[in-house]
This record gives sequence, C-alpha cells and structure tokens, in this order.
Amino acid sequence: MNAAYWEEEARKLSALSDDELLARIHAAKQRWGKDLCILAHLYQRKQIGDVADFTGDSFLLSQKAAAFDGGKYIVFAGVRFMAESAAILARPEQKVVHPDPEAGCPMADMAALPEVERAWDVLSRDGGPKIVPVTYMNSTADIKAFCGKHEGTICTSSNADKTFRWAFERGGRVFFLPDEHLGRNTAFKLGLTEDDLAIWDPEKDDGGDRDRYAEAKVVLWRGYCPVHKKFSLRDVEHVRKFYPAAKVLVHPECPADVVAAADFVGSTEYIRRWVAEASKPGDQIFIGTEINLVQNLQAQYPDRLVAKLHRSLCLTMYQITLAKLCVAVEHPDKLEKVAVDDATKHWARVALDRMLELT
Ligand code: SF4
Repeated sequence: MNAAYWEEEARKLSALSDDELLARIHAAKQRWGKDLCILAHLYQRKQIGDVADFTGDSFLLSQKAAAFDGGKYIVFAGVRFMAESAAILARPEQKVVHPDPEAGCPMADMAALPEVERAWDVLSRDGGPKIVPVTYMNSTADIKAFCGKHEGTICTSSNADKTFRWAFERGGRVFFLPDEHLGRNTAFKLGLTEDDLAIWDPEKDDGGDRDRYAEAKVVLWRGYCPVHKKFSLRDVEHVRKFYPAAKVLVHPECPADVVAAADFVGSTEYIRRWVAEASKPGDQIFIGTEINLVQNLQAQYPDRLVAKLHRSLCLTMYQITLAKLCVAVEHPDKLEKVAVDDATKHWARVALDRMLELT
C-alpha cells in the first residue's frame, strides 16, 4: 500500500470527532504497548502533545529517540527533518514513521545539497583562512551529512555560541547553514559585528558577497524561518508601551533587532522551562515563537498572563493532524519508514556525535 492509500485513509478518518480519534489513538497505543512510542514537537497542537509519550524541541526529541529502547516503532509528530534525525539515531531494528511525509520545514528546505556544494566550492578555495561548516539542527539529513564529511558539526539554538567557538578554534571562519538570523544572533553574542559577516545568497550565482568571503569571520546562508521572521521590533515596542512590567521572551531565529530588544532569548525548550520554572502567578509574559507553544503554555498556566508577541503559525507543523497521527499509530508496521541512506546516515552521525561531545 502506497502513501496515497494512507493519505486517503487519513482523509476518511478526518470525518471523526477529535474525541473519537483520540480514543482510537489510545486504543492503538495500548495494543502496541512498549513497542511503540510517540514523540511530538512542542509546536504541535495540544491534543497531539497530550497523547504523545514525549514532547520537546527538536534536539530533546532526537535524544529521546536515541534513548528509546522500548521497541520497534517511533511515530514522530513534527516536520520531516526531525523524523530524519530520529531515523539517523534509531537502532537498526527500529522503524521511524512520519504521519505526513509531505510536512517539511521551509527553512531546512532553503538549503539544498547541490547549492550548498556549489557555495562550498567557492568558499573553501577563496584564499581565506580554513572554513568550518556548521549546520543548525533544523536542516535536512543531507546537509548534516555534508557538515560531518567536511570536518564540521551541528548546533542547536542553545549551544550555537559554544559551537562557533569550537569551529573558530579549528579554522578562522564559520560557514553557517541554513538560518541567517540564528547565525547573526550567535555572532553578535560572541562580540562580532555586521562587518565580520558575509551572506551567501543561493539565488545569486556568486553568492552575492564575493569580495567579503575571504575576510568574513562568518558566512551566513540566506535562509530563514518564516514563523520567527514575522516578529518585529514594533511588536516588542507595543508590549513595552502597554505592558511595562511584562517580560518578553523570544527565540533566536527571530531577527537581530527583536532579539536585542527582548528580555530573554532561548530555544523552544528554554522558553517552556522559563515559563514553568522562572515565572510566578500574576506575571505577564509575551512570547515570540510559534503560536501552538504559546497557546499550550497559556492553557497550562492560567494564573499568569502568557501572551503571543504576534500570531505566527508553522503551517507544516500544523499539517500533522489527529487523523494522520491515528493512521500512523494504528498501522506503523505497514506505513513507509523514514529512510535515510547509509552514507548520509554515517556522515550525519559523525556530525551529530561531534555535537553531542560538545554538549
Ligand atoms: S517553526 Fe520554522 S524552523 Fe520550525 S519547523 Fe516551522 S518553519 Fe521550520
């Protein structure tokens, strides 16, 4: 049975109510017992998070996937690169299933391997100091493998500064993929300025900044997260004006002026923990990240004002519906597995292991 068959099954199931779907998912989970585990990203809708065995950001979920020794099936409710990371880390006898193989991350898809190789050809031969490729966790398996193969590594939004330092010790320059904003924010955190940066724009034949590549400390791939790019300085100024006591928390994929104006900056998991552990009843907290996380935190902490900085939904995360999850949980043995070829898996693991050593 091919993907179209299962898509049709999910379409039929979408006629059921959420309660009926949840009842079926719970029943299927019980049937599979320890043989199945559902991992859900924090940007998933609330009911999916509630039915999952583990929730977290992409890094935490990769660690959960690697540590899952229960059994055969890992159902990953998130975008495709996350399911790929789980497949890279899973044991050979385990099968990772993605409820919607079409749900990719637009930012990860902005760095395609042939274009990255073209950029590398120029950057690694431009006469500047040695350049080390570093990719953000939010990238495809191909790009992670590329970094592994070229003595580079992977970083998360929490350890990007540490990773940049590691890369500077090995060469004079960093080639950072695929998020320009996280790269710029990390460089600024380390005391670098805009003069130390150059941009590689994949839409331009020569990258667009040719005269700058040899001397720049960091070359940033021109990619962005459409969800976090939407936040603006005006959003923060609005909060400052009308809620002067409020704290503003944002994700480092936001533009640099938003990050500079915020009170706290950190990963999705950092934001979740900050609200859980550092805030108290009566506090006012405005959050600049994906709306489902904000809404889930609102529901969890009704005794404080947890509000969005701006409404910003990740459309591809939202493509994972309860109906699709239900099909995946009922038939993980029949659905196609998330496949990563052996060479890609090997080099991506090399890069991931370097990252884990650094963590
Ligand atoms: S929130 Fe941004 S980085 Fe995360 S999956 Fe959506 S588009 Fe990709």
